[in-house]
Amino acid sequence: MARLLIVEDDETIGRVLESGLRMHDHEVVWQRSGQGAIREATAAGFDLVLLDLGLPDLDGIEVCERIRRLQPECVLVMLTARQDEMDVIVGLEAGADDYLTKPFGLAELLARIRAHLRRAAPAGPVRPEFRIGDLVVDTGARRCFVAGREVRLRAKEFDLLSRLAADTGKAVSREDLMSDVWDENWFGPTKTLDVHVAALRSKLAGAAADEQTAMPQIVTLRGHGYRLDGPHG
Ligand code: CA
Repeated sequence: MARLLIVEDDETIGRVLESGLRMHDHEVVWQRSGQGAIREATAAGFDLVLLDLGLPDLDGIEVCERIRRLQPECVLVMLTARQDEMDVIVGLEAGADDYLTKPFGLAELLARIRAHLRRAAPAGPVRPEFRIGDLVVDTGARRCFVAGREVRLRAKEFDLLSRLAADTGKAVSREDLMSDVWDENWFGPTKTLDVHVAALRSKLAGAAADEQTAMPQIVTLRGHGYRLDGPHG
């Protein structure tokens, strides 16, 4: 069971989401406005937020940013009716972990929520630590360090880096990254992946103190995926 916040002004969609998620044993709070969502996210912690981008009072992207600041650890999924790719990219950059384009089925939403929550709390006995040059990825503590200084990564950025680090020097396909980091049955667009890679690159580059820092690089393999190369290639 998870604590979910639904932010949706459409009565029909909101009611379907609320009752569907409650039926699957989630604790659900439904807010119909951006102000209401921010008030709710200020008052209580949530495991996952479903955020409609088209809200009556505030811009959805702004609400996204504010919820992300209030709750850095929660999973944030945008619901968008818009077809415009820019909205999706701006939303991901504003802190969303994922998005669903309306209309979507309840089964798809539930599968996505399950995958997110499972990955937010990974289980299993093996939690290795990867050391690549001056980069340390501690998967047990879910912490990342560059030259001894901690770099704050969002949940999916950390999962993505861990996945690449586990296969340092090897090509990892987009399909494998999407299924391992996001959802084993991923069938949606994979722009999410590129936005997270871009964020990760910029955070790691920003964390490197100077040119002496031995940093691995995330290399783009056109038409295939990505590869994490050690500092010396
Ligand atoms: Ca709406």
